[in-house]
Amino acid sequence: TSKMIDWNSDQVALFQEQLRQGMALWDLPLTPSLEQTYTAYAIKLVQTNAQMNLTAITDPAGVAEKHFVDSLSPFLLQLPQLDGMLRIADVGTGAGFPGLPIAMARPQWNCVLMDSLQKRCRFLSDIVMEQGLKNVEVLHGRAEDIGQQLQQREKFNLVLSRAVARLPLLLELCLPLVKVGGLFIALKGSDGPAEVEESRKALSVLGGVIDHVKEMRLPISQDGRTLIVVRKTKGTPKAYPRKAGTPSRNPLI
Ligand code: SAM
Repeated sequence: TSKMIDWNSDQVALFQEQLRQGMALWDLPLTPSLEQTYTAYAIKLVQTNAQMNLTAITDPAGVAEKHFVDSLSPFLLQLPQLDGMLRIADVGTGAGFPGLPIAMARPQWNCVLMDSLQKRCRFLSDIVMEQGLKNVEVLHGRAEDIGQQLQQREKFNLVLSRAVARLPLLLELCLPLVKVGGLFIALKGSDGPAEVEESRKALSVLGGVIDHVKEMRLPISQDGRTLIVVRKTKGTPKAYPRKAGTPSRNPLI
């Protein structure tokens, strides 16, 4: 019933070429072993996508830049606050972006990839096993529920999220997981700055302040991106996140 889609050797070579070029333009190292790991992940992503919906992007150049290079922005990876050992979470990670490429590049960080769709979590667990990643945990669940679990709530130095929700809602899903003093970073498109304006109420209720907003371009396509960097300055009240479904029906705006 399901067709297998495999990149041919030219397509694999194109993926690797674009990945190398993007990383070089970002001024980030790409060791042969990291390139191998990213290539195996990309091939499996495109194969598995033929059986389940993981991504709309399957062309080699697109996967390299819009998934991998986008996940590995130096404006994120080289933030001075992120020196040392960290516990990080990726909320609504889907096929693993941005959390899994970051975890592969930063074996000293412990990464929890969270998603509410079981099938996507199984895909991620398979990659973690096949690549022997010791620093990645896959957690199936809704952020509203995970944010109320004692072993996860306010336990992360850094929480990331890409393409999950507009910022007021996203803050309720993500900020409860961040330790006081830690960061939440939303990866957004070029219209990201507009979402900051809608988020005053959510920020003050949940205990965050905007640290900075970084507008940038992807290094090959020049597509616009925004990193919204939020610092948690006080504990989130126990009532948040509200029960699953409520934040999206009635966001804090
Ligand atoms: N972050 C990935 C990326 O940028 O490629 C995936 C983006 S996809 C559009 C959104 C993902 O968020 C889906 O995999 C969905 O299952 C997950 N998601 C949506 N709401 C969620 C929630 N409340 N808790 C956990 N995961 C959620």
